Amino acid sequence: MTPSLEQVKEWFTQYNSSVFADSLPSVKFILNNTRRQLGQFYWGNGRGIGIKISLYWDRSEEEYRRTLLHEMCHLWCYNRGWIREHHGPHWKQIAAYVTKKTELQISRCTDASDWKPRNA
Ligand SMILES: [Zn+2]
Repeated sequence: MTPSLEQVKEWFTQYNSSVFADSLPSVKFILNNTRRQLGQFYWGNGRGIGIKISLYWDRSEEEYRRTLLHEMCHLWCYNRGWIREHHGPHWKQIAAYVTKKTELQISRCTDASDWKPRNA
């Protein structure tokens, strides 16, 4: 599937409410076509904060939701001053909580070896 920007924003709002107790600030969303990163939380250098999601790979809705949640864990850490730890202890802690709460496995890396580009 290919989520629209509106769809991604809707998931964010839902998860912010159901998982993060509406504690996350609103961010900018960018859909791109990057092969190397499924998603990215960006911050600093006067760019503001935002979440990028790549539409390059042909992936299921569940996989897109997992990518969004992974980046929302970075946002949660950013909000508490722990962003420089990257996938450090606080990120792991919130990822484990999100996994339990949503029953979607939020992991550090996803094996992309079986994926196919959307436009192949
Ligand atoms: Zn990450």
